[in-house]
This record gives sequence, structure tokens and C-alpha cells, in this order.
Amino acid sequence: MPELSSCPEDSLASANSSFLQTVAQREAALLAPYAMRSGDSGGRKYPEPEHPYRGPFQRDRDRIVHSAAYRRLSGKTQVFTGDMGDYHRTRLTHTYEVASIARTLGRTLRLNEDLIEALALFHDIGHPPFGHAGEDALDECLEQVGGFSHNRFALTLAEELESRYPEFPGLNLTREVLDGQTHRAEKNQPAQLVPLLEVQIVDLADSITYDAHDTDDAVKLGLVDLPQLLEIPLVALAAERVAQRGRPLSGKLLRSSIVHELIDLQVTDVLAHSAPALSTAANMTSQQVRSAGILIEPSPAIQAQKRVLESFLFDRVYRHPKILEVRTIAQARLRTMFYALVNHPDKLPMRFRERIEPFGLERTVGDYLAGMTDRYCDAAYQRLANVP
Ligand code: MG
Repeated sequence: MPELSSCPEDSLASANSSFLQTVAQREAALLAPYAMRSGDSGGRKYPEPEHPYRGPFQRDRDRIVHSAAYRRLSGKTQVFTGDMGDYHRTRLTHTYEVASIARTLGRTLRLNEDLIEALALFHDIGHPPFGHAGEDALDECLEQVGGFSHNRFALTLAEELESRYPEFPGLNLTREVLDGQTHRAEKNQPAQLVPLLEVQIVDLADSITYDAHDTDDAVKLGLVDLPQLLEIPLVALAAERVAQRGRPLSGKLLRSSIVHELIDLQVTDVLAHSAPALSTAANMTSQQVRSAGILIEPSPAIQAQKRVLESFLFDRVYRHPKILEVRTIAQARLRTMFYALVNHPDKLPMRFRERIEPFGLERTVGDYLAGMTDRYCDAAYQRLANVP
């Protein structure tokens, strides 16, 4: 067994410094010129020394994975609540599917995978309980103070509410991860610059992911059937590609194969359609790509087909009577809890009561409710509903 004393501190420091050089060298060797480089990061709000063997975006990813808000995604609805079964996606498994698809796109395009993974794992962290039903209810409750957006709430969690490090509030993430989320929060406002390609990739992966898995979950839950879905051009195209492989399939394997193909054909389409724009950008830096307005997008044909699928999913799945019933109950509960807490702020945990003065009572109650999992929200409702 080697003696520990054979590794003196100065040789460890020199190993660390050479590791950081290795990060830069590795990125120079592996990444395209237009990828975001760790060394070009805008840094963190509270300056910190570099980590000896993890790059800045790798640290961001790790901080996100270790946050309470990330773990709570396992108890938050994506589209279908936990009492509808245990096959369908939760907000957490959705998040990891997004990260997986985004990394595939990013690796193929030689973008910064550590940044992509951090952005992907972070992108839905601000979702309140009960998915978009919960978000709509909170938005309505907070109408007088600017409404509620899960994208903005992700920033509140990352910058203020997560309390895990003695040196700073929040997670102290890099400017690039926070800016990527700010871009999502301000999606409807005119932007000066297009986002980094890594941010664009994660947004595309999000859309590819939910179109595919909501199709899968909806069939599994019996809300729609495969023949209905095969009338949708994008699903029919996926089914055609499955059939071309020559092995006749039916039932579960046919459904799974169509879902895999839905992902594969969209990823392939994005890569093929973006090739000319990226060849124009071949020698640009990440910032020059932003200034030039380079966009990575699906082809117009696939974009049109995605719109048809998404409109079908909206009408037939997201507004299915079974989903609407859950939505109505969840929204009524959140409204009841919101007004109960506004009337009885003493029922808030102390760390939220301390936020009433700087941020206002309504916003504080909204933030408290938004951080809950579905199950915690149900239990808190039972307690609060009995408040006189
Ligand atoms: Mg998402």
C-alpha cells in the first residue's frame, strides 16, 4: 500500500492546476468553436475559487442534483398525477429524458455537454405541484403581484430559497445557467440576442421529449388509442419507419417502437436541418453565434407536424375529462391553501415568514406553495383546510 505522505501538498496543488489546464485543453480538442467554453464563463455572483478537478458547469450540474428542489421533482406531476399509476413520467423522469436527448444532440454538434446537462436538469425545477394546473392556479392567485411562472420561480429557488452552502445564499450557479433560465422566463419578450446553442438544444430536447412521452403515457393510461394516434402525420411517419424494419409488431412493442422512432426522427431532423446554419458558424465563437442570430431548429415540415401532434395532445390528453377532473380538484386545493395562508401567515414556516417583509405576503405564500410536491401539498391541504 503506498504511503500517503508520498504525495506532498505542493505536488497536489500542481496536479490541480494541471487538471484545470486539462479542462481547457480537453474542451479545445473536443468542442466546436461555437460551443461555450468553461474558461469564457461569466462566473458566479459570489466569486469562488475554482474546484481542483471539476469544471464550472460540472459543479453547477452537481449542485442542482444535490438540491432539495431537484429531488422534489420525483413527487411532482408532469401531466399525470401519481394516483393514476406508476408507469407514466414524473417531472423528474421527464427531466432526465430531456437531459439524455439534449446530450445526444450536444455531443453530435460538439457543444458543451456539462453545460447542457446542468441546463437540462435545471429547466423544470421551478414547477409547482400538479403541473400546469398548479401553475395556472398560482398565476391566478398572484395576479395582482405579477403572476406566477415556473421559469421565474426556478431562479428564485436557485438564487434565494435553496440553502445548502454557508458561503452564499442559493446555489450560486454560473451566469450561463441562470441566463439560460432567464431566457425561458422572458420567452415572450423581445430578446436582444438568441440564446447560447446549449440553451437552444435543451429547449428543443424538452419539446421532443414531451411530445414523445406524452404520446406513450396517454396510450398506456387508455386516454387515447394507437389507431387514433396513427391519424397524426408525425406518429404515422414514425410508424412507417418502424414498419420499414420489416418485423411486424403489435401492442406494447409497437407503441414503444413508435415512441423511440418519434424521438429518433426528430433528433435526426434537427441535426440535418441545422447543418447549413452551423456550417456558416463553423469558425464563430459562442458569442459570435449569438450576435449572428444562429438558430438550431427542426425543419419546417417537422415543425408543422409537431404542431398537429401537440394540438391533438392538448385537446385529447391534456383536456381529457379524467385530467380535467384532477386539474379542478388540484386548483381548488391550491386556491384554498393560498387564501388560508394569506389570512393566517403564522401558519407559514419561519423561513418563509421572514420573507413576507421584503417580498410581500402574496408572493411569499405563492413561493411556499410552489415548492411543495403533490403529496406534501395534499397533506398540507388537509391541515390548512381546517383552519377557522
Ligand atoms: Mg420540461
